[in-house]
Order: sequence, then C-alpha cells, then structure tokens
Amino acid sequence: MPSAVRCMVEDCVYNEKLHCSAASILVKKIGNEIVGTERGTCCDTFSYQSPDHKPDHS
Ligand code: SF4
Repeated sequence: MPSAVRCMVEDCVYNEKLHCSAASILVKKIGNEIVGTERGTCCDTFSYQSPDHKPDHS
C-alpha cells in the first residue's frame, strides 16, 4: 500500500511513484524562525538517489 505521505521529490531514495517510503520523516524549518509559507520548510530525511549513495535514515 502506498504511503499516505505524497512527495514530489523524485530525486530522493525514499520516493516511490510520488509517495514517501520512509518509516518516518523529519520536517524542519529553514532560514529564520518565522515560517510564513511552505517554502520555509524542508524534509530533513531526504537522501539523494544515486547508485553509490545509501539512505542515512530508515
Ligand atoms: S524522505 Fe522526504 S523528500 Fe524523501 S520521499 Fe520522503 S517526504 Fe519526500
């Protein structure tokens, strides 16, 4: 069953057909302490998808 977390970041090792396959994710603020829009957040669990890069999180 696909994860309930939908994600458009296809470059991530956890992305499976635009759903996140990680057991859990951590989303952090970026920039200053005021998060006024979705642009002020990022997924800290992201791991770049390449043949020699293994995921750091599970
Ligand atoms: S770990 Fe984050 S960036 Fe990667 S697929 Fe899941 S939600 Fe998207």
